[in-house]
Amino acid sequence: MSMNHSKQRVTVLGSTGSIGVNTLDVLARHPDGFSVFALTAHKRVDLLLQQCLQFSPTYAVMSDEAAAQQLTQQLKEHPVDVPTQVLNGKQALADVAGHNDVDTVMAAIVGGAGLLPTMAAVQTGKKVLLANKESLVMAGRLFMEAVKVSGAELLPIDSEHNAIFQCLPQVGDDSTRHIRKILLTGSGGPLRALSAEAIRAATPEQACAHPNWSMGRKISVDSASLMNKGLELIEAKWLFDVSPSAIDVVIHPQSIIHSMVEYVDGSVLAQLGNPDMRTPIACALAYPQRMDAGVGSLDIIAAARLDFEAPNMQDFPALGVAIDAAESGTGAAAVLNAANEVAVAAFLEGKISFGAMTDSLQNVMQNAHWQEPKSLSDVLELDAYARSIAMQQIGTLC
Ligand code: NAD
Ligand code: MG
Repeated sequence: MSMNHSKQRVTVLGSTGSIGVNTLDVLARHPDGFSVFALTAHKRVDLLLQQCLQFSPTYAVMSDEAAAQQLTQQLKEHPVDVPTQVLNGKQALADVAGHNDVDTVMAAIVGGAGLLPTMAAVQTGKKVLLANKESLVMAGRLFMEAVKVSGAELLPIDSEHNAIFQCLPQVGDDSTRHIRKILLTGSGGPLRALSAEAIRAATPEQACAHPNWSMGRKISVDSASLMNKGLELIEAKWLFDVSPSAIDVVIHPQSIIHSMVEYVDGSVLAQLGNPDMRTPIACALAYPQRMDAGVGSLDIIAAARLDFEAPNMQDFPALGVAIDAAESGTGAAAVLNAANEVAVAAFLEGKISFGAMTDSLQNVMQNAHWQEPKSLSDVLELDAYARSIAMQQIGTLC
């Protein structure tokens, strides 16, 4: 990463999503510190157009070709001195992530579609702000090895992992951290207080109505099933090099503590704050400094109390499936992630019930066969294989 530039040059992968929009909100507060090199979106032309006009990136990438043509056309109607160049397709996503003129990449595409562009940023040694947890879950060891080889600086955006990162010692080598365990907190999601039957029958609207966070639909469903906590446990295992057995999931409905680290002397450090993703985003963008995120003060008196409980593994079985996968290696995690993406999409399309998502996940984990992936192409192959089994399996349910 070149630090000779007065501004950090940033690519935002997935700029039209919930994390992307929050990232641009933070960047807009600090025009002297950052410039936007590229913005990317799947299909949403209207919002990407607006963002291009506000941030004047060198490139805008749309994965969809027709959408890219529309964007090109609409940008012509707003002439500027240095026009934004529109690209399309998967290779272009990787190109703007790994480009020589980029210092920092916000990886905020949702799901496995984020793997290759995120890896392009990692392999070219960028400062990588990781929101796209699925890419780390899928590629685990290969992802972390690539970070080491390239010297990329990996900073977690997921609020829990950003909290853990802030509670870890910032100096010294990893072998002297003296961590006893990580307490990974989660709100429990919108279905936490419902009966087992009501959970199994939950609608997409119920599942996406998160009490504390406003997020994209996929992660909202994952939060409702507790699969998100399972993916996060795998994410934490890789990011912080801890065994899954040293990570306890704790339900904390207020989402004020964002996670904790316990040390061998019994000290427990926590990071607190309002549930607003601009805090971890600004923390990572400014790291190791601090900067304003636009987030108000935490009113701890108004919050009044913080509650904690064990996760309900019986009514939310996806968490157990994910913990098993965390303990059985990278291949299992890649299969888990693929099967989950297919199940969540089928649920959001109204094809299967909320309860059937986990049934299908369990079925895929039991019936799929795999070997540990040794390369990124192995990961992609395993991902495609697991998706096809999940789709077949879901086909029998519809
Ligand atoms: P979102 O659905 O709001 O946005 C997703 C973004 O990815 C959009 O810009 C979309 O255009 C783009 N995208 C979708 N499919 C694509 C494809 N096939 N190819 C290229 N681009 C594609 O999602 P989000 O809530 O912003 O989440 C993004 C990532 O951040 C996820 O991995 C999620 O788990 C993680 N995350 C989100 C939050 C949150 O508060 N939203 C918190 C923690 C972690
Ligand atoms: Mg999270």
